[in-house]
Amino acid sequence: MFKNILVANRGEIACRIIRTAQDMGIETHAIFHHADRNAPHVALADLCHEVESEVPVAAYLDIDQILKIAKNAEIESIHPGYGFLSENHIFAQRVEEEGINFIGPTGASMTLLGDKIRSREVAIKADVPVSASAEYLDDEQAFVEECRKIGYPLLLKASAGGGGKGMQIVNSPGELGEKIQLSRGEAERYFGDNRIYAETYISKPRHIEVQILGDGNGDVIHLFERECSIQRRFQKIIEESPAPNLDTSLREKICVSACELAKSLNYRNAGTVEFIVSEDNQYYFLEMNTRLQVEHPVTELVCDLDLVREQLLIAANGKLSHSQNEIIQRGHAIESRICCEDPNNNFAPATGKVQSCHLPSIENTRYDIGFSEGQEITSDFDSMIGKLICYGTDRNAAIQKSIESAGKMHILGIDTNLNFLLAIFRSEAFSEGLLHTGFISENQDALTNSSIYEENKDIAAIVATMEDPEVRHFMKNSSNLHRSIGSWRN
Ligand code: ADP
Repeated sequence: MFKNILVANRGEIACRIIRTAQDMGIETHAIFHHADRNAPHVALADLCHEVESEVPVAAYLDIDQILKIAKNAEIESIHPGYGFLSENHIFAQRVEEEGINFIGPTGASMTLLGDKIRSREVAIKADVPVSASAEYLDDEQAFVEECRKIGYPLLLKASAGGGGKGMQIVNSPGELGEKIQLSRGEAERYFGDNRIYAETYISKPRHIEVQILGDGNGDVIHLFERECSIQRRFQKIIEESPAPNLDTSLREKICVSACELAKSLNYRNAGTVEFIVSEDNQYYFLEMNTRLQVEHPVTELVCDLDLVREQLLIAANGKLSHSQNEIIQRGHAIESRICCEDPNNNFAPATGKVQSCHLPSIENTRYDIGFSEGQEITSDFDSMIGKLICYGTDRNAAIQKSIESAGKMHILGIDTNLNFLLAIFRSEAFSEGLLHTGFISENQDALTNSSIYEENKDIAAIVATMEDPEVRHFMKNSSNLHRSIGSWRN
């Protein structure tokens, strides 16, 4: 196993990787920008290195500085986490050129799969279902004709896309010209690459993805599926495993397709093959993500595996440590993304100081958190500051656990979406498990007007009062107050 590891990331994922590496006896190195000097990943790592840059986010993207740090510290392996450099093939290649192990796939796999148009070609070759599509090749007339053949509505996507950027739904031929401009403009702005393509728009679809692990020599296993249909603006908010109400034979087919695709590339390390599933149970390849996903913990809980540990073992030993028949999906896990935003103000990003944070210790509840009390949350980084992951013997138990844990945890000093998540968990529509990607927009009014906001206003006020030093002192000496607040909250 490696003597040390450098985690080229920050926030909850850096903390999560560092913990597993430490459990495995590996010396951990963190990088940080000055703005993050008090961040938990810095405190947690055995050693930390500052990356200088005017803009905080640019520090975590600075390949030259990160490699210099790695060489000076004689680093043997680098884990990129998700986001930042995790899907940058140049970074992966340069890490390996330095003789350092990149915990992820080869740069070549990343190049191919990071391009949505090329990755669809890979899927077609591997006999994985893809929906009808057409590439925009600077001849607008020809493209209009190809779109007519696909039929409306259709979806324009950026080939280099991610995070829903560059996506435009086109309902009729009359809208096409304007939407092409919008999509290409956004693709150029975000990715410096204006190539776009059109594909069939599937109404009320589910997003179902499969976690795979590959050894780089054609041995690939899957760790079953995750349902990620609870989304807002094409971005996931709640993920779960197994996918509810999914036909067993469809589950099996989707998992086999994911493995076939990965096998066709001799894929190495962890990856996720994403699919869109139509109401009539047809499934189509969306893309393959060549990294650890935000939502990987739900797979860890139902498969009883540590995915970061598996990634490190693959990188160190060049082989998988489990065969397919050893992977069993048991129980049900749900993850919710905790974001600093105001659900009652169109999810405007929130900033401020985390004055206090209460994460109650509850059985079958895991918090993957990347902030600490007193930390300033700024707009320098993504608004997602952590994740709540709950496990139950079945879906209903996992929902009840999510309601209990989200209801009892408190983050004060900054707006979060915790009440919005609670409103989803308490809704009948969610508990029925009839999910599709339009779930939030369809239920938006009920979710933002839920009584939970009023109920928890009082709780927030009481917890805020409890944080007051004078009240704390009083409470220490008065078991009655503590008791009365406790029972009132349950
Ligand atoms: P990105 O890489 O930008 O996140 P994806 O291709 O992964 O884009 O798709 C993100 C989300 O967009 C999906 O989870 C789904 O909600 C929606 N989506 C993507 N393709 C389609 C489609 N063909 N029809 C309907 N919705 C789609």
